[in-house]
Amino acid sequence: MGLIVQKFGGTSVKDRNRIFNVARIVANTRKAGNDVVVVVSAQGDTTDDLIAKAAEISSNPSDREMDMLLSTGEQISIALLTMALQELGISAISLTGWQAGFATDRSYTKARIKRINTERLESELARNRVVVVAGFQGLNRSDDITTLGRGGSDTSAVALAAALHADRCQIFTDVEGVYTADPRKLPKATKLKEITFDEMLELASLGAQVLNNRSVELAKKYGVELEVISSLNPVPGTIVKEETKVEGMLIKGVAKDENVAVISIMEVPDVPGMSFKVFSLLAQRNINVDIILQSSGRDNSKDLIFTVPLTEAQTALSVLNENKNRFGGGDIKVSTDYAKVSIVGAGMQSHSGVASSMFEALFNQGINIHMISTSEIKISVIIDKTDADRAVAAIHDAFIH
Ligand code: ADP
Ligand code: ASP
Ligand code: MG
Repeated sequence: MGLIVQKFGGTSVKDRNRIFNVARIVANTRKAGNDVVVVVSAQGDTTDDLIAKAAEISSNPSDREMDMLLSTGEQISIALLTMALQELGISAISLTGWQAGFATDRSYTKARIKRINTERLESELARNRVVVVAGFQGLNRSDDITTLGRGGSDTSAVALAAALHADRCQIFTDVEGVYTADPRKLPKATKLKEITFDEMLELASLGAQVLNNRSVELAKKYGVELEVISSLNPVPGTIVKEETKVEGMLIKGVAKDENVAVISIMEVPDVPGMSFKVFSLLAQRNINVDIILQSSGRDNSKDLIFTVPLTEAQTALSVLNENKNRFGGGDIKVSTDYAKVSIVGAGMQSHSGVASSMFEALFNQGINIHMISTSEIKISVIIDKTDADRAVAAIHDAFIH
């Protein structure tokens, strides 16, 4: 008995049968005496299809119009799921992101939720209705529709669970939980019973798309325990929480991210302030820079090499080219043939030799490492994209099997 937030991703609502499957899960939760708020994503590949439609019209559509377009996907899902619930005799109502009170900052296509005005939602719950909310969307101060970035419905669900002080937040998806690697790519990956917010945040940020990284950030901030489970197979999933009981597992998972581009700026003058000039330009455009390498100075110049998300590489390149004279005017190259492969685990903090075991696994496969970055709970390497799946399997074998 309590208030439960249930989120269903795109594959879980991709067609009529899947929608009724979800409706039955929600109906059973309701019939067990709970209040239920449901968050849904767009059906199947709808968001990708909408992006492709935009590309037929414009090579550089405005972010505002992209949000106007992409937000329609979730609106289809909420209406269809609510109809299905009503067919099953459950009193239900659908609400768009803005009807549900999601206020975001201004930034189109990657907006952040600023607050949620839950008044309407609470009044619908008080009328004993299941409330079906469109994920991934909100409204900014100009009353324009914004979206939260790919995978943003997870964030909508966690934010609602926090705002409503829900008793549970369940993320239903197309796999049975969080695994030691993507189970679709590496069938021998194993399901984790539990994982900490910090580990999950790293895995999500490093490419494990099962949870959106902002959703994990929010869950940690507001102490919202998450349950990641399958919408198709009713077996226990993975609990994501502050601290886990299961100790001793050094590495919790291996993640791969192909959304990386490597930018090299050659022959930057070897004088103070150059890194500041380069990276402040990127920060002004909200571009996340990840791994940074700087060659040692020679002939009074050095090379700056760093990674950015592939999706932001073109913006990065244009802003750097426009301002080239501010940092010496050297050659700027972008390469998109790389992937980032990472291991994550709080247990590795206290173990030496983790990095060398990882590098040994790659060496045994003849895989060349281009860049390395480490933190207390993760090690990432940049390697050729064509080596990435082999690298994940080899590293997984070295640490997990
Ligand atoms: P949804 O549509 O439900 O939001 P996503 O496609 O966004 O689902 O995320 C689920 C997918 O994440 C899985 O199908 C799986 O291929 C992928 N994935 C990547 N890494 C992992 C992992 N470590 N554990 C589980 N799934 C993972
Ligand atoms: N439909 C959006 C996407 O495909 C949001 C989501 O699925 O969470 O990214
Ligand atoms: Mg998702």
